Amino acid sequence: MFTSMKDRSVIVTGASKGIGKGIAKVFANAGCQVLLASRTLKDAEDAAAEITQGGGRATAIAADVTSESDMADVATAAMDRHGGIDVLCANAGIYPQSKLEDMSSEEWDQVLGTNLKGNFISVKACLPHLKKSDGGRIVLTSSITGPVTGFPGWTHYGASKSGQLGFMRTACMEFAKYGITVNAVLPGNTLTEGLIALGEDYLETMAASVPLKRLGTVEDIGNAALFLATKEAAYITGQTIIVDGGQIIPESLEALEEA
Ligand code: NAP
Repeated sequence: MFTSMKDRSVIVTGASKGIGKGIAKVFANAGCQVLLASRTLKDAEDAAAEITQGGGRATAIAADVTSESDMADVATAAMDRHGGIDVLCANAGIYPQSKLEDMSSEEWDQVLGTNLKGNFISVKACLPHLKKSDGGRIVLTSSITGPVTGFPGWTHYGASKSGQLGFMRTACMEFAKYGITVNAVLPGNTLTEGLIALGEDYLETMAASVPLKRLGTVEDIGNAALFLATKEAAYITGQTIIVDGGQIIPESLEALEEA
């Protein structure tokens, strides 16, 4: 039995849709007070309304993780609305595809700026408040792409997702003295609005390559993030949890078919 997460103050970036919205819902269902941040206020408000209609506690704020002043405002809002910050889920990320031969340095900077520097900015903004928590938690959303696998068109994305883990491994050491843990969830292919829009055939093909024969749900990712935020996970820091239905395991197509 896990210690209750009731009333814990949680910030989720990139929470208006997809995995971030799933993380926000899972934490709200566990009794947390959740602040949902994304650039488009209306979308974040709609996601927060969905949570409150389901009985959870959630509010929204417009913020770009690439902006230090926006993220300072997010931290202030969490302090004002919840009275502290216990958990930061640094989830916001983008994944435009571009082959290296065609990639501009602007595209590179945009992806690294959002996915990696965005983590730095989010963590820095929340750190003074997380230090005052009786068990501060930082959970990064990385990916299997980069840290474990590769995918054409995603050199910048893979570098950003691996970079998050390098960031994590030193940040967790620096923050250990404050009792703050820093961990990462690494989703495989996860059913988000964007993926669903690609159509049934595409989804079926993708699910067929996963040993558990289904794509991940946003709640699957949220549950892993929630575990890392519990009191019981206090001795886990600098670690990764892959949530991919076994997607990275088969060593060949034959191995997958054989099973
Ligand atoms: P998504 O459905 O496209 O949602 C992205 C969210 O991030 C939206 O709320 C978006 O809202 C927000 N966002 C984008 N740029 C932002 C910025 N600069 N500042 C603040 N918010 C920003 O993405 P997703 O698929 O859920 O992915 C979420 C995270 O999971 C990413 O880090 C991604 O790398 C990772 N991931 C996803 C998958 C997958 O299969 N979906 C697999 C592995 C890892 P606004 O546009 O309004 O800001």
